Amino acid sequence: MPRPKRNESPFLECHATVHDWDEISVLKEPSYGAAFDYRCTRCTSTKRILVSRIDGRVLSRAYNHVDGYKAPTGMTKADYRKEWLEKKIGRNLKVVS
Ligand SMILES: [Zn+2]
Repeated sequence: MPRPKRNESPFLECHATVHDWDEISVLKEPSYGAAFDYRCTRCTSTKRILVSRIDGRVLSRAYNHVDGYKAPTGMTKADYRKEWLEKKIGRNLKVVS
């Protein structure tokens, strides 16, 4: 399957809005704390939230994005949202910074 381009789904929608996280089985047990692992149903990136077993504080959040997900230098979230809106509603909206 060809890799999606930055301005195509699913990458475009994930950059323009938010990932669609789905909780999955823990991929690898942590050496401390409790891990919660998630995978985006669109782009398949993963996220791990590590929580203290003592007081429930979030100790860390780690993301692993798939190849091709990273935005090109200078590409902002607003740029992605503008492209997404143009595709979604077919209008040429201006982005005000
Ligand atoms: Zn995603």
